[in-house]
Amino acid sequence: MTLNPSPAVLTRPSSTIPTVLFLRYLLPVILVHAIAVLACFPEFFSWTGAIACVVGIHLFGQAITMGYHRLLTHRSFRVPRWFEWTLVTLALCCLQDSPARWVATHRMHHVHSDEDEDPHSPLVTFLWGHMGWLFLRNHDLTHMSSYSKYARDTLQDPFYFWLERHPITPLLFYVAQCFPYFAIPFGIGMISGSSISEAAMLGTSVTIWGVFLRTVLVWHITWSVNSLTHMFGYRNHDTEENSRNNWLVALIAAGEGWHNNHHQDPSCCTVQHRWWEFDLTYWEVRGLQWLGIASDITPRRDARVRQAANIASNVAKPSKLASSAPIR
Ligand SMILES: [Zn+2]
Ligand SMILES: [Zn+2]
Repeated sequence: MTLNPSPAVLTRPSSTIPTVLFLRYLLPVILVHAIAVLACFPEFFSWTGAIACVVGIHLFGQAITMGYHRLLTHRSFRVPRWFEWTLVTLALCCLQDSPARWVATHRMHHVHSDEDEDPHSPLVTFLWGHMGWLFLRNHDLTHMSSYSKYARDTLQDPFYFWLERHPITPLLFYVAQCFPYFAIPFGIGMISGSSISEAAMLGTSVTIWGVFLRTVLVWHITWSVNSLTHMFGYRNHDTEENSRNNWLVALIAAGEGWHNNHHQDPSCCTVQHRWWEFDLTYWEVRGLQWLGIASDITPRRDARVRQAANIASNVAKPSKLASSAPIR
């Protein structure tokens, strides 16, 4: 465990100057938070809605963690295209950007962590690293050259390229999910003999809890990985930025809180470097491997070095044999 370095103070990236509000992100974030507040009113509570929210936090949260982060950004395992597109479709229902933009932003974070070019370093301020960075236009994130530099492989997929060509579509995916969230409980209510107003209230409750409150909670869980784990926690590795291992974020973000471990070896599928640093996402990927869906899981760096050494020695052996074989 390494000592905490004293973090330098940063100013926000120069690419966000001149200051221009990014209303495309600011307005939906305000609106979704405002609708989610309705969950505090007892008339909008239902156990079905609460269960939809809890299940959704994990299901949609994993679309971000497993899908956008470990699969698309770091390519730390492989899945068939139908499964990858399913994860991305669920991730679009989180209103957390298109796949190419998410990937480009996160790769930029890894390359420039806690430096001026880092899009969301909390060393500027906690609030900036948590969510403030989303609401100012950052020329580095909107310029096409960033996509070709940081997300070229992502844009080779026709679905993700189509999403970039039609920037309204992530919002349409998000809005579209409200229909089944309302219609299914409404239909079940009608079939079970409820009045139209009771069934409509159940559908409204499930939509508020299952879509809007869940979206807000998944947002803040994801944003906590950007903010809290670059400020609070311990370090196993003396990496060049201020990343930390934070047990609270690891608990709520299915392992993502072991962020210092992740920065030390970003392409590795697991962030579990000690036995008690439990990485739920990794074990779920292993479960997918057991089901025959996931493959080519990237092991830790030391295992990769051993594998490479074994391959090199196996390549060398036949050539030795060949050179010592008698000439016929
Ligand atoms: Zn980081
Ligand atoms: Zn990462």
